[in-house]
Amino acid sequence: MSYLDNVKIVLVETSHTGNMGSAARAMKTMGLTNLCLVNPVIKPDSQSISLAAGASDIIKNAQIFSSLEHAIADCTLVIGTSARSRSLQWPHLTPKTCGDKIIQEATNTYAKVALVFGRERVGLTNEELQKCHYHVGIPANPDYSSLNLAMSVQVLCYEIRMSMLNIENNISEQKNANLSETEFPIDADIERFYQHLEQTLLKTGFINANHPGQIMGRLRRLFTRARIEQQELNILRGILTSIDKTLR
Ligand code: SAH
Repeated sequence: MSYLDNVKIVLVETSHTGNMGSAARAMKTMGLTNLCLVNPVIKPDSQSISLAAGASDIIKNAQIFSSLEHAIADCTLVIGTSARSRSLQWPHLTPKTCGDKIIQEATNTYAKVALVFGRERVGLTNEELQKCHYHVGIPANPDYSSLNLAMSVQVLCYEIRMSMLNIENNISEQKNANLSETEFPIDADIERFYQHLEQTLLKTGFINANHPGQIMGRLRRLFTRARIEQQELNILRGILTSIDKTLR
């Protein structure tokens, strides 16, 4: 069960069956599977199956509704897409905030979300847009802002997926942070290590007591940069002790 199972892509009165297929493919590549067709001008046919390629299961399982109202009846959040801003101002989302909103809602087991796409030629009617909680627009070239239907499905589904991966990464990062609570040595232990290191290097003659130079300063900088963990410090102390033994 994925959060994405709570998300449906609704295509309203699509004219080209090829677009249905391409939309299905766009969805499946991003992990979405619920396709709803509202009054398709032609029912999905062989062209939609061929453009869906490996996503023909999504076309075959698509639900067909006689109105947008029916398609979104079980949804708690409905977002409408539009290539241009309409006369009526409506709460507006960017593709990224749209992805975030959808995933936020979809993480609730009982919430269903619909992302609604319009007709190839005229988009969604004002009445349909007013059934939506938010509108989302892909900020395309203002002189030519209307994407192909399936391509706009791809862009918005991509943002939904990015938002889901973000949440999953945060969860696993938190889990990893809890799992591998790396132990770091206290400063006093590090100081003892530096003293031990210096003593050993004096004994081997690597450091000349009369001309010690910058060696210890540089080694301190090296180990500070590496941020030694407790276990690593134990290994380094062990190495020094083994050298001391050999010298004796
Ligand atoms: N002239 C129509 C364009 C329809 S394009 C209009 O202004 O709405 C067909 C569908 O593709 C649109 O209804 C919408 O669902 C989607 N679409 C196309 N370009 C889009 C964009 N820039 N932002 C969001 N959705 C877009």
